[in-house]
Amino acid sequence: MSAIGFIGLGNMGSHMAANLVKAGHDVKGFDVVTSNVDTFVSAGGSASGSVGEASAGVDMVITMLPAGKHVRDVYTGSDGILAHAAPGTLLIDSSTIDVASARAVADAAHKADMHMIDAPVSGGVGGAEAGTLTFMVGGSDETFEKARPVLEAMGKNIFHAGGAGNGQAAKICNNMILGISMIGVCEAFVLAEQLGLDHQKLFDISSTASGQCWSLTTYCPVPGPIPTTPANSGYKPGFSAGMMLKDLKLAQEAAQASDAATPLGAQAAAIYALFDAAGHTDTDFSGIIKLLRGKA
Ligand code: NAD
Repeated sequence: MSAIGFIGLGNMGSHMAANLVKAGHDVKGFDVVTSNVDTFVSAGGSASGSVGEASAGVDMVITMLPAGKHVRDVYTGSDGILAHAAPGTLLIDSSTIDVASARAVADAAHKADMHMIDAPVSGGVGGAEAGTLTFMVGGSDETFEKARPVLEAMGKNIFHAGGAGNGQAAKICNNMILGISMIGVCEAFVLAEQLGLDHQKLFDISSTASGQCWSLTTYCPVPGPIPTTPANSGYKPGFSAGMMLKDLKLAQEAAQASDAATPLGAQAAAIYALFDAAGHTDTDFSGIIKLLRGKA
């Protein structure tokens, strides 16, 4: 059993922290929204009144925050984690943030004699609740092994992607593939509609031919072929278009900073920005088919 500080008890963090409590850890939670802390206390956790309080006297601190600026503030701010946690503390950031911030914060943690990994997740709120998240981890071999048992209490697949920041790199590369492939599959269905080719026929053929991919066979963006996808329930997320846009923007930021050519990634980011601006931030990302039909 470990003493853990958990900072950021939102849609994902609340479930992840509750799973740590269920696994027998002693978890102190903090969130700037007080009602999130109250909910965590009713799930068996204890309350902290500040970042500093959640970081002091614990074996590890886990953060699950919206974006890079929150992570930088919470770790390196004057009242942040690095100012309050003891040397040797294990630090795990599971937020999805830019690679540059992840590396900068890991470097600051290292200088303060702490051990840090970036460990963003995929699997959504459902995976957080069920404890079946996938973790993509960046950091040293030693710190990865130290963190593995606690990650296993929150997830099912734990991957070590390399040094600091590589967890974030894996996450944005994967989601760039996903955004591009979803638009490709949606374009094919829209073209099929115009040509009088039935959705199910295209699905049956392409899912066993060279067009096969996850966006088609697991997350089919039209109702019918896979009855459980968001397309069958009015594109209720799932994984929202707003989240996809966030990840595509992070991928573009990283591509520009590293001089990588990602023209389709750029196009996918622009298409999701249009969908978002049309009021679909909270629509499932497979709902992008509506935009392609001119009906967003
Ligand atoms: P969320 O907005 O529901 O939760 C973030 C929480 O952080 C909020 O409760 C907020 O009050 C809290 N917070 C912000 N600043 C704080 C501070 N200074 N101190 C303490 N608490 C603070 O977001 P979420 O959906 O839980 O996502 C968290 C992260 O996980 C994001 O980076 C997101 O991109 C990533 N993610 C989300 C999903 C998903 O399906 N929701 C899936 C994969 C990854």
